[in-house]
Amino acid sequence: MNKIIMLKYAELNTKKDNIGMFLKALKKNLESKLSEFNANITFDKGRMFIICDDSFLDKCIDVCRHTFGILEVMVGYELTSNKMDDVESELIKLVKEKEFKTFKVETQRSDKTYFMTSPEINKHLGGVVLKNKDGISVDVHNPELVIHVEIRKEHAYLYVDTYRGLGGYPVGTLGKGMLMLSGGIDSPVAGYLSMKRGVKLEAVYFESPPHTSVEAKNKVLKLSSIIARYGASIKVHVIPFTHVQEEILKNIPRDYLVTIMRRMMYRIAAKLAYRNNCKVIVNGESIGQVASQTLESMSVINETIKMPVIRPVACLDKLEIIDIAKRIGTYETSILPYEDCCTIFVPTHPVIHPELEKCLEYEEKIDVDGLVNEAIRNEEVVTYKEEYTDLL
Ligand code: ATP
Ligand code: MG
Repeated sequence: MNKIIMLKYAELNTKKDNIGMFLKALKKNLESKLSEFNANITFDKGRMFIICDDSFLDKCIDVCRHTFGILEVMVGYELTSNKMDDVESELIKLVKEKEFKTFKVETQRSDKTYFMTSPEINKHLGGVVLKNKDGISVDVHNPELVIHVEIRKEHAYLYVDTYRGLGGYPVGTLGKGMLMLSGGIDSPVAGYLSMKRGVKLEAVYFESPPHTSVEAKNKVLKLSSIIARYGASIKVHVIPFTHVQEEILKNIPRDYLVTIMRRMMYRIAAKLAYRNNCKVIVNGESIGQVASQTLESMSVINETIKMPVIRPVACLDKLEIIDIAKRIGTYETSILPYEDCCTIFVPTHPVIHPELEKCLEYEEKIDVDGLVNEAIRNEEVVTYKEEYTDLL
């Protein structure tokens, strides 16, 4: 009997007509992540199967647990047939190796012509297990071990180890977005959450050397590599923002510095997004967190662009965002103490209810288009391939 990983799909069951596209994307994402591990991946509408060398099994399981589109990762055995005699003998071998006190058998039977129904198989195999191991009992409500049996046309499968997957849609199936990635806690979480909905990401980071350090930039690149583990690769656009900020500082009243700076960031992000075939901007804004994130600020800042802006953490409070950051492995990097370009020029009293007319009037004093184009012309591009390690 072959060791096998079986994947249950997440929300893909709702994608009736498009399911083929989603499954191909999931397979492609896994193939790219598993390319070094000699893995063979096959699928049908109900399940995906991975067979790999035993020495890579743990790594393959880990990759599956970090890939969107998967509800459950089940690890077990593919039997050479679906004959009940075979199922019984393999099951006996399997339970003898396992330590447990209570169990139940759960059967799924995609071969509806099979001579026993699922409840009959549960009952029958439950009896076989009880007969062949001492000191155990059946507990249907809270068993220590669930023995999953799947009866298919050609083979039967036995699974005893199951792990929760991340859910969501395979990255790339919903197109591409441009993530505004700062070194803070919020934007990597926003990136993760949008990837979970199938959005592939590129990222833009605004840096202001010498006011911001190389460490601050490296921190953002490190965050990119961490979130790349969940998707495919991430292309990061590092945009020099010093000249823009200096022009703003020279020409704009202090209380509007942040508003105008963020309007410039949006313009640059949107232009980059169009050029790189991204359909939306994603950022880590959360309602009310700082002056630039009041509804009035967001509205005045958003006014600069037509492209939709997705704000996955808009309605989460900071503690909820921190919880996710810790779970996905970005928190420790995000709290490293390097300055962000947003923090270096922040006035003590930024305007909380900015007015659009004033923004337009102030922006007359700077060369908006020239600065946007100059920044994009001088971008530096770094690409991160996914680089998973044990995170959960
Ligand atoms: P974060 O924790 O993500 O840094 P924040 O609470 O510090 O967010 P702001 O500094 O107001 O909030 O930034 C709001 C959002 O704007 C960020 O989540 C990010 O998406 C984007 N942003 C801010 N600074 C930068 C930057 N230097 N480069 C790219 N995007 C940025
Ligand atoms: Mg920030």
